[in-house]
Amino acid sequence: MTSLTVLGTAAPYPLPDRPCSGYLLQGGGAKVWMDAGPGSLAELLRHTSLDQLDAIWVSHLHLDHVGDVLNAYYALAYGLLPPLVRPLPVYAPAGLGKRLAGFFEQPDAGFVSNVLELRELRDGLTVELGGLQLVSGAVEHGCDAYGLRASAEGRTLAYSGDCEPCPALDELAAGVDLLLCEADSGEASGGHHTPEQAGAVARRTGVRRLVVTHVGPSLTPDAATARAAAVFGGPTACAEVGLTMPW
Ligand SMILES: [Zn+2]
Repeated sequence: MTSLTVLGTAAPYPLPDRPCSGYLLQGGGAKVWMDAGPGSLAELLRHTSLDQLDAIWVSHLHLDHVGDVLNAYYALAYGLLPPLVRPLPVYAPAGLGKRLAGFFEQPDAGFVSNVLELRELRDGLTVELGGLQLVSGAVEHGCDAYGLRASAEGRTLAYSGDCEPCPALDELAAGVDLLLCEADSGEASGGHHTPEQAGAVARRTGVRRLVVTHVGPSLTPDAATARAAAVFGGPTACAEVGLTMPW
């Protein structure tokens, strides 16, 4: 069974009952924590535990997507949890090890390798986790940033991460069963989608369902979803914390 559970959607900082970006992606017998924004670890723990994950996947190293990798390290290193069979794989853009080690004033980027196994994302990287395939594609966000196309059990899901409309996202999203797309900005500003742009991606790539997420402070999630739906013209939902949907 495939499912997507919403753990957090807020940007650029966590709100009461609304952590920053985080999702539990399940399919093909695998579980992936997709983006680890501040607050999303606590939500993740309502649904699973860190030792049940096959990997963490981080779209880019902005705080609202990566902050809780540090909390995952704290949990695994100091939380008196059952020891992991092996360090937890973390797929993330280059530089995460240095940032995590820097928090502990350690010069060695491998400082966290006792519990986290960092693996660098690159454009086109394909990972198989049991019956779940993840393809990462470099998207336009003004930094080293990735979107994702997941396939399992004959189903497909794409995730924008944070980006402006770009051919790479269109490629990841082409014909998927579910597109999880950010709609951060009320007006086109570069680096992000407006709701209309999110709806337009869904429309031109022929996705079956659109889920709107990462709605920034200039919009409300409901308003963003309505604006995206008007352009898409297909089934459109708002990502709400705690919601689990098949894909
Ligand atoms: Zn963001």
